[in-house]
Amino acid sequence: MRLSTKIPLIIIPLIAGPMLLLGLLAYVQLKDSAETRGVQAISSLLTRLDTQLQQIVSTASANISLFGDDPQLANYLLTDDLEAREALMQRPLQQKFSSIQRAYPEYYEIRILQPDGVEGLRLSTRNEPDLQEDESTSQDFHAMQHSGNDTLARVALNPDNQHLALFVFRRLRLINPALDSFRSEATVQGYLGLTVDLNPLLDLLQASPWPSARLLLSTPQGEILASTEGQPLQQWLRDYDLGNIIVSQTPVQHPEFEGQPYYHHARQLYPDLWAHLLLPESELLQESRHVGLLVLVVCLGSIILSIPLVLLLVRKQMLAPIQRLNLALSRLAQKQQLIQVPIQSEDEIGELGRSFNGMSRALQESSERIRALAFRDSLTGLPNRLMFNRTLRREIDAARQHGHRIAVLFLDLDNFKNINDTLGHPAGDQLLVKVSEIIQANLRGYDSLGRPTDVDPTHEMARFGGDEFTLLLRYLSSAEGVVPVAERIIDALSQPIELNGTPCYAGCSIGIAVYPEDGNTGDDLIKHADLAMYQAKASRRSGYRFFSSTTAEHARQRACLIQKLHQAVEQRKFELYYQPVIDSRSRRLSSVEALIRWSDSELGTIPPASFIPLAEENGLILPIGAWVMEQAARQARSWRDAGLCAPAIAINISSVQLQQKDFAQQLTQLLSQYDLDSSDLYIELTETALIQAQEQVLENLYALNKQGIKIALDDFGTGYSSLSYLQNLPIDILKIDRSFIINLQEKNNGLILSAIITMAHSLDMKVVAEGVEDQDHLAFLSTEGCDLMQGYLFGRPCPPADISHMLKQQELVDSRAG
Ligand code: C2E
Ligand code: CA
Ligand code: CA
Repeated sequence: MRLSTKIPLIIIPLIAGPMLLLGLLAYVQLKDSAETRGVQAISSLLTRLDTQLQQIVSTASANISLFGDDPQLANYLLTDDLEAREALMQRPLQQKFSSIQRAYPEYYEIRILQPDGVEGLRLSTRNEPDLQEDESTSQDFHAMQHSGNDTLARVALNPDNQHLALFVFRRLRLINPALDSFRSEATVQGYLGLTVDLNPLLDLLQASPWPSARLLLSTPQGEILASTEGQPLQQWLRDYDLGNIIVSQTPVQHPEFEGQPYYHHARQLYPDLWAHLLLPESELLQESRHVGLLVLVVCLGSIILSIPLVLLLVRKQMLAPIQRLNLALSRLAQKQQLIQVPIQSEDEIGELGRSFNGMSRALQESSERIRALAFRDSLTGLPNRLMFNRTLRREIDAARQHGHRIAVLFLDLDNFKNINDTLGHPAGDQLLVKVSEIIQANLRGYDSLGRPTDVDPTHEMARFGGDEFTLLLRYLSSAEGVVPVAERIIDALSQPIELNGTPCYAGCSIGIAVYPEDGNTGDDLIKHADLAMYQAKASRRSGYRFFSSTTAEHARQRACLIQKLHQAVEQRKFELYYQPVIDSRSRRLSSVEALIRWSDSELGTIPPASFIPLAEENGLILPIGAWVMEQAARQARSWRDAGLCAPAIAINISSVQLQQKDFAQQLTQLLSQYDLDSSDLYIELTETALIQAQEQVLENLYALNKQGIKIALDDFGTGYSSLSYLQNLPIDILKIDRSFIINLQEKNNGLILSAIITMAHSLDMKVVAEGVEDQDHLAFLSTEGCDLMQGYLFGRPCPPADISHMLKQQELVDSRAG
C-alpha cells in the first residue's frame, strides 16, 4: 500500500477519534452544567416566589397595624350610635380605605369586623358578591380571636371568588373614653381585615425561559389553590397526588403529562402553602440539546478542517520530498550524472536530501575518476586510444570548420622488443615513460600525444605493451610543417637513453597522415599513418614516411594476400620444389634444398619472398613450416623406397618455428615416423634468426645438434654476424649469400669470399655458395675450395619427379662408369 493511501488511513481516525471523544466529553459536561443551571433557575424562581410572598405578608402586616392605629377608625368603632356612625363616620372612612386601595391595588378588600365577627364595613375594588358577611363561624376569625398576636395572616381561598388570597386581620383594642376610665384596659372594639390578591404571584413564571412550565400553589394536603393552567392539569394532578408527594417528600421522577416527561420541584412557601413547578424535560434539556448540537458542529467542523490541513502538511513536508528523492534516485540510476535535490527543511527529510546530494556528488566524482582511468594509459599517463580518437574527431571537426590542416603521426619504436627482451619488462616500461617524456619535450603546447593502449572494459587495468605512440599536430598551414617535428623526434630518440645504467638506443619510425588529403575520419587517418609507419620501418629504420596512395595500395594487396594465404594454408595449396646442391669436387648431387611454391588461381605464382615474411608476422608460418617438414620427410622416404640413392634434404626454417619449445622434438619425431636417419634432413636458418638468438632458439639448435641433425646458416654475409660470433654455435654449414657470387666482379667480393671460405674451414664448417649461375662462378669457387655449390648452373628448383629423374641418370652414369 502506498504512503499516500496509508497515511490518510492512519491520520483520519487519529484525528477524528479523539476529537469526537473530546466532543462527547464536552457535551456531557456542558449538558450537566446546563441541567444544573436549569435546576438552579427553578430553585431561584421558587425562592423569588417565596420572597415575594413574604414581602407581601410583611408589608400587609405592617400596613394593617398602621391602618389600625387610625383615629378615624377608632372614632368609628367607639361610636355606639349606629345612625351617627353610618351618617357621619362611614363615608370619610370609606374614602380613606379607597385611597389605601389606590396605593395598594392588590388590597382588593378592606373590611371592619365587629367583635362578634359580623362585617361592619366592607370596601371591595371588585364587583363580586359578598357571599360571607358573617365571619363569626369562620376558621380564620376563630384563630384571630384566640391568637396571642394582634395581627394574623393566613393564606386561603377566598370563599367569595374562590381565588387565592392572603387574609390579614388586626385586632383593634381601644379605650372608650366615654365609658371607661383612662386607667382601665383597652377592650377589643373590632377587627380590621385586608384581603390581598395572591394570583399575581403566578405571573413570576412569565419571566422564566420555559413557556410550557406550570406553576401551582397548593395546600399541604395537595389541594390546588392556584395554578397557571386550567382544567386538564387539575385532573392530572389529582391522579398524580400532590398531597402524598408533599407528605413523603419524594416527587415522582419525571411524571408524564400529555405524553411528555416533567420535572417536579416543590417548596413550602407558608405553613399552609406549597409551590410546585412542573417543567417539561424537553424544555429543561433544550439548552443542553443546543449545546450538543453546537459541540457536534464544532467537532465536525474542526475534523473537516484539520484533516485536509494535516494531510496537506504531510504531503508537503513528507510525501513530496520523498517523491522528489525517489525521482532523483531513479534519474541518478539512469543517467549517472550529478543530480541535486533542493533542501527545504532542517528535519530528518532535509538530512536525507543532504545525504542524497552527498552521495550523488561522490558518485559523480568516482565516475569521473573511473572515466579518467578509462581514458588514460596507466603507465605513461598519456591519453589512450579512446581519448585520442575523441580528441582527433573533435579536431577534425574544428579543422573542417576553419579550413586548416591537422596531421596524425604514428610512432613505433625500432628496438623496443630487443630492449624488453634483454633488459626485462620493468626496463621496457621505464623506456616507454622516458620516450613519452622525450616526445613531449619536442612538441608545442597545442599538439597532443597519445599512447594507443586499449582499455578492456571488463577489467580496470589498461592493457600494457605496445611501443606505439600517436601524435596529433594542429594548425598546420601545409603538410611540410610536420617534417621538422618528425625529424626532431627521430633525432631525439636516436640519442641513447639510459636504463638502469645501460645506454639504450630506442630509435623510432614515424608514419604521417594529413587531414584532409589522407583521410576524412580519425580512423582513416590513424590507419593510414600506421601504414606509412610500416613502410618507413621497412625501408630504413629511424625514418619517417608520409602516407601515399601507393602505401594504401600496398596495404590493400597485403591484406588480400593475407586472406589468400589463410585459405591456402587451410586447403594445403602448396607444392614443394627441390633445388640441387652439387659437390664441387665430384660434381655429383650432394643434397637438395626444399623450396616452397604457391600458385593462386587469381594472383598466379607468388614467390616465397613475398609471403613467407607475411606468414612469419601472423604466425601462419607454423602450419606452413610443419607442412614443409612433413612433405620433405615423406619425399625422402619415397626416394628411398624407390631404391634411389636419395640426397639429404635441406629445409628452410623460420626463426618463429625455432622459438617453439618442442621444435627439435617435432623434427626427430618426423625422422622416426618416416624411418629416416638424422643425416637425411638438415635445416637452414637465416643469420637474423641467429642474431635475435633467444634462449629457446639456442636450446633447439643444441638439441638438434645432439641428435646429429646438421644446421646450415643461410644467406651468410647479409646480416651482421661475424664468424667469431658463430664459432660458439652448433653450425655445420655456411651458405654464402647469392649477392656475393653475382657481384663477384666487384673489387673486394672475391677477396671476402676466399676469406670467408678459409675461416669457415678453420671453424670446421662446410661452405655452400648460392646463386652459381655460370662457369666463371664455378671456376672461382672451385679454386677457392668452396665445398658445395647451388645455382641455376646446376639446376633450378624443380618438382620432385625431376630430381628422381636426375638421380636415376646419375645412377646410370655411375653403373656405366662402374
Ligand atoms: P633461400 O633460402 O636463399 O633460397 C634460395 C633462393 O635462391 C630460392 O629462391 C632460389 O630459387 C634462388 N636461387 C637459387 N639459385 C639461384 C641462382 O642461380 N640465381 C638466382 N637469381 N636465384 C637462385 P626462392 O625459391 O624464390 O626462395 C626465396 C626464399 O624464400 C628462400 O631463400 C627462403 O629464404 C625462402 N623460402 C623458400 N622456401 C621456404 C620454406 O619452405 N620455408 C622457409 N622458411 N623459407 C622458404
Ligand atoms: Ca635456403
Ligand atoms: Ca639463401
